[in-house]
Amino acid sequence: MSTTTTGAAIATSCALVVCVTARVPHRILEGAGIEGWIVALVVVVAAVNGVRAVVRAPFTFSRSSSPGAWAANEIKVFVVSVTAGSALTIPLYALLRSTPNWWLLAWLLFSAVTLVGQFAMPMLLRAQAGPIEPADAALTARVVALGARAGVDIGAVQVAHGGRDKHCNAYVIGLGPTRRVVFGAAVAAWPADVADQVVAHEIGHWRLGHAARRLPLTVGAQLATFAFAAWMLAWTPLLHWAGVPSIGDPRSYPTLLLLTAAMALPARCLLAALDRGQERAADKFALSLLDEPHHFAAMLDRAADEGEAPRALPWFRRITASHPPIDERIRSCMRYVSTA
Ligand SMILES: [Zn+2]
Repeated sequence: MSTTTTGAAIATSCALVVCVTARVPHRILEGAGIEGWIVALVVVVAAVNGVRAVVRAPFTFSRSSSPGAWAANEIKVFVVSVTAGSALTIPLYALLRSTPNWWLLAWLLFSAVTLVGQFAMPMLLRAQAGPIEPADAALTARVVALGARAGVDIGAVQVAHGGRDKHCNAYVIGLGPTRRVVFGAAVAAWPADVADQVVAHEIGHWRLGHAARRLPLTVGAQLATFAFAAWMLAWTPLLHWAGVPSIGDPRSYPTLLLLTAAMALPARCLLAALDRGQERAADKFALSLLDEPHHFAAMLDRAADEGEAPRALPWFRRITASHPPIDERIRSCMRYVSTA
């Protein structure tokens, strides 16, 4: 997150607090004489997005190429966020208004989306990867041999020429004979000794069953988050602050928006800590499989220089980062050298 993005995020949060304390939704709905909750919600969503566009304007304007392009983009962002915001919040408010057990239903829906996402992941990766072609014979032979060393059958080795390759990625997908390793074009062009380290790390994730281990924890963290949200959103002092009799009142929207990120933060931190633990385990797997710590450190350097992986992170970004910063991974790699 750049300084501009952080600045815009802080400005947005402040604007939301002002919306709540100045009772902006109340004033607009009273002024316009709007009664039905659905229309009221759409109006509040539009008003909040309008306020957000105004406070973000100094940040978005400084990044745009011309005033015309800026205005056109701002209008597009406004229309899309009001449409998408309404499409998401109308069912949510319908649920909030209909039962005190809304959080259980919301959790079921959320975990269903998580499960479908997990199984649809290969298709999503494929869609993002752009044109894919088989890797050359030399690369294929190296990867298959590496898989055999790690006890994993690899059916095919491919190179993707779009999307994720900018991030210097490689991944393992599929099962049994259809299992394949897909390289981003950037990694496929790296020296073989260095590219091997990426493959070994990815095979590590696969062999250690990381995706399957993460799933129950994700769903559990979601349940805890929704239960906490249900308690928080029924808390009288909060409703009093928001100026609403219950959270299902459309005028609560800016409060809900403010709290969503905060309520999801503990689960995000927990899952990110798990992810970082899995990254460290995959690094260790690669180091013990290949026992080439200097090539491994060279691979991490390239991930930082070419893939823009951060070398260091301030604590407030580290707590939600899925990967430990590169310098930290290089230090653990050097510790491996000294203890091996
Ligand atoms: Zn990894």
